[in-house]
Amino acid sequence: MRRAALVPVLACALTLSGSEAISSPQKSPVPQSELRNISSGDVDTAFGKLQTYWRRQGVGAVSTRLAFLQGKQTVTCNLANKQVTINADQIALEYCPTSNTIIVSELGFKVLNFFAGEDIKPEPLAELVIGHEYGHGVQEAKKENLTRVKLELEADCYSGEALAGINSPAIQDAATFYGIIGRVPGTDHGTPMQRYLSFEEGALFDTCDSLPGS
Ligand SMILES: [Zn+2]
Repeated sequence: MRRAALVPVLACALTLSGSEAISSPQKSPVPQSELRNISSGDVDTAFGKLQTYWRRQGVGAVSTRLAFLQGKQTVTCNLANKQVTINADQIALEYCPTSNTIIVSELGFKVLNFFAGEDIKPEPLAELVIGHEYGHGVQEAKKENLTRVKLELEADCYSGEALAGINSPAIQDAATFYGIIGRVPGTDHGTPMQRYLSFEEGALFDTCDSLPGS
């Protein structure tokens, strides 16, 4: 995510516009017994899988890292060409180009668990969220220069490409995922439907070259 202001930095992958529902007729509810909070282990595992995929693609320059931000920790990010120091409680999920690091804060876990609810299990949720953030790392490595919404949609596309590439079951949860995050208002990530279609583009065609507008 790249943004000009600090306040909207919250929940990069979780902010988007509109409230269109994306229907997912095949998906049955997750059994109560399989529900638990998402953990740093889930995020770490998802990150490892995605890193393996992108390194295999030769975007190995993607030395993207993962960091958990806790308590009073801060991180310095270059956002909208400005060096900004962000506190752990001001950020949920963020890709920080300065350090090529995906940051997940304690607040991020709260947000994820809030949105996860009963709709999606921790493992696919972690893969879908980190898949998007890792997409920003790929963009950074490729030195891509797109407008904000296109950057966000392409990150969703890269997420689809990578998760299909590792045969992740999380693909089945994509419609639910983009429907869930569509409940949050925002302006720069595209509509939930645009995001889902971008994800599917990557998942089905194994490339994001033909993403509209890219
Ligand atoms: Zn983003």
